[in-house]
Amino acid sequence: MKDETKLVTAGRDPESNLGIVNPPVYHASTVLYPTLDALDQSRKRREGGERGVYYGRMGTPTTFSLEDMVCEVEGGDRCMVYPSGLAAIVAALMSFLKAGDHVLMVDSVYGPTRRFCDTLAKRIDVSTTFYDPTIGAGIADLIQDNTRVVYVEAPGSQTFVMQDIPAITKAAHAKGCTVIMDNTWASPLFCKPFELGVDVSVQAGTKYIVGHSDVMIGTASATAAAWPELEVTSRMLGHTAGPDDVYLAQRGMRTLSVRMNQHWKNGLIVAEWLREQEDVIECVMHPALPNDPGHQLWKRDFKGASGLFGTTLKPCPRVALAALIDGLQLFGMGASWGGYESLVLPQDPNAGRTVTPWPYEGQCLRFHIGLEDPEDLIADLDAGFNRLRAAM
Ligand SMILES: *Cc1c(COP(=O)(O)O)cnc(C)c1O
Repeated sequence: MKDETKLVTAGRDPESNLGIVNPPVYHASTVLYPTLDALDQSRKRREGGERGVYYGRMGTPTTFSLEDMVCEVEGGDRCMVYPSGLAAIVAALMSFLKAGDHVLMVDSVYGPTRRFCDTLAKRIDVSTTFYDPTIGAGIADLIQDNTRVVYVEAPGSQTFVMQDIPAITKAAHAKGCTVIMDNTWASPLFCKPFELGVDVSVQAGTKYIVGHSDVMIGTASATAAAWPELEVTSRMLGHTAGPDDVYLAQRGMRTLSVRMNQHWKNGLIVAEWLREQEDVIECVMHPALPNDPGHQLWKRDFKGASGLFGTTLKPCPRVALAALIDGLQLFGMGASWGGYESLVLPQDPNAGRTVTPWPYEGQCLRFHIGLEDPEDLIADLDAGFNRLRAAM
């Protein structure tokens, strides 16, 4: 079956639910057992690692519905749901690390993931080496005897640098390392991490899976080999996501394909227009643009692009930047992305980076292109850049 069909059919069982199309929202902590035998059998199944309804924290059919959808589309063997994307990232890292271990972390990683390495990981005596996202097979030279995890995120946060994931997973596996990928940018639809050799793939479901800027949720999918460690640690961390949020995430998945294809199309139209504003814009970072340094890798390994990309402005005074941003009518300013609406956010790629400093002085702006008509978005931006030019 094709992905579009899987998004409609996966994780649904109307026959066991009065014919109702969508899964029920189970609010549960206690699960009752009618007899001693039933309790014993349930405990045996649980100890054997079988997925089931044992206690609210272990999930309900609502949770299983989302897990199954993400697995079927992203390609993992099993999936776990978390209360946020960051919870999924930290659980995935903790699953494969112990005191004395070493992590290879991409330098362009999502900020809070870097902070995990700089704080909590250090506290449990796990060391980190940050590496250049474009390192490719050269990662082999950085793998130490105690390296257990190689972490990738493509394209990376803020500057959207692509990574040669198959080359990295090959080198990592040759030395027995587990590869964890943050696959949020592409969503489960536009990148298939397990086909590229990744062992665990994390989604900030908060972004495109939910798609409406109203839920925090995360997922981690794993190969059959990586699953037991991921599951044991995640359960010990006590993660559980609320049933209403899980329900909204599985509902968001149903329309993932139509939304993603529109974000891709709209994003490229706006990115191409921005690239033409050469008097005020230094560069546009978007791997689906043909002249982007990561374009060939994107074309080889990805099935589409999301609506998130970056630009760097030519240096301008703060008052000109404010004139551009404060007057925008259709672009909100704030954290997160992946909803139906467009966003713009000033960012500093150099905050935290240690091996790949960003060379430009001008302000970086991250754009999320929503589902509005791109002509309206461009008109809004055009007026904004005219305000910026007037304030220079
Ligand atoms: C937002 C984001 C996360 C974290 O997700 P939350 O649900 O906000 O915790 C992780 N990775 C990337 C790339 C993100 O953009």
